Amino acid sequence: MSNGFAKFEEAKMDDQTRCVTKSTVSFRGYESLTTPICRASTIRFPNAAAYGARHSRDVDGYIYGLYGTPTHRFLEKTLTDLEQGARTVLVPSGQAAIALPILALVPAGGKILLPDSVYPPVRDFAENELSALNVEVQFYDPTDLLDLQSRIDRTTDLVWIESPGSTTMEFQDVGEIARIAHANGALVGCDNSWATPLLFKPLQHGADIVVEALSKYISGHSDILMGSVTTSDEVLGQKIKAAAGRMGLGTSPDDCGLVLRGLETLYIRLEKSQASALKVARWIAAQAVTKQVLHPALPSCPGHALWKRDFSGASGVFSVLLEEAALPHLSHAFDVLESFSIGASWGGTKSLMVPMPVESDHRSKTWQGPDIVLRLSIGLEQTDVLTTDLARFFGELDQRMARGADAGLTSARLG
Ligand SMILES: *Cc1c(COP(=O)(O)O)cnc(C)c1O
Repeated sequence: MSNGFAKFEEAKMDDQTRCVTKSTVSFRGYESLTTPICRASTIRFPNAAAYGARHSRDVDGYIYGLYGTPTHRFLEKTLTDLEQGARTVLVPSGQAAIALPILALVPAGGKILLPDSVYPPVRDFAENELSALNVEVQFYDPTDLLDLQSRIDRTTDLVWIESPGSTTMEFQDVGEIARIAHANGALVGCDNSWATPLLFKPLQHGADIVVEALSKYISGHSDILMGSVTTSDEVLGQKIKAAAGRMGLGTSPDDCGLVLRGLETLYIRLEKSQASALKVARWIAAQAVTKQVLHPALPSCPGHALWKRDFSGASGVFSVLLEEAALPHLSHAFDVLESFSIGASWGGTKSLMVPMPVESDHRSKTWQGPDIVLRLSIGLEQTDVLTTDLARFFGELDQRMARGADAGLTSARLG
């Protein structure tokens, strides 16, 4: 037995090596329409001297998989061009795309201003990680420039913008905020996940940094987590890229390939979602129990004028405020939905509706609406299918409200 095994090893000696040796093939004529998926941890260097000098390679060169492969470069370049910026850094989530520039640019003991309507996990990050670094965190009223003026000073390192605000849909005057921030020597970062660079380009309005949750519209199919940070300035971009490397934030080339695939249909997905969402928003606005529809294309939305001035369209995400009396019955009404799914995130092909508790995330005076807001993300289904589903939902609410039956789930318990 043992002899036989030795013979097998000897006979296969060449094959053993062959199996792990990369063959030489020609790429000549390979003019594919697709983006190559290039996986790598190790990058091979021609000699020891080149390896020793690897960190002086061009910033877009290849050193180690963590810093990107050609697949990453394709996505970085496309996003940089769409945002009209200088450099893009890819990170493993939209949340990381916000945490990274803050950690890279706000020193321990520094100061940051966040809008009160900020994506709630960012509030969490500020109150934990940033507080631990003795960073002074202040939340400003997203729609009140005087409130921002009263909080900003020469010690402010970064002013964050998210327009529109998560769930409560406050639109911010990016140009004016950038002017105020720059006059105080602060940088400006903007979360542009709702609009994507197709509907708004914050860098063109004075922001220094724009962040996209690629997990949402840009990848577009509810199967990817990734984020991007694009800067208006090359030096700022390199600073953030270096910090990403030190923190070990890398992304998978397979995922980058899927984001690039999603990007190819971004325009038509947004076009369809925008048209359907507006129809659905108008349908909901006509329901008796609806208090207000926060869709910026409707003149009744407080952000309408700013949206109309700055944005070239609306995506398919908007919010609905209901009469207080409807809130205790919400959970039962959600039970009758068939086409809408209930779940986190948005911007995919399938429509979602979720009850979002907002009061606890708005600590300043800005939020005066009900505690629970409905957030809808309209996908690519036929619009009638969605309004039929919503008719079931609103019918259930009406019936239960008429009966005065307490469905037993209060807004507090929904949170
Ligand atoms: C979802 C979201 C994020 C975070 O994106 P993830 O990829 O889920 O981490 C950031 N900002 C906004 C406005 C979002 O809606």
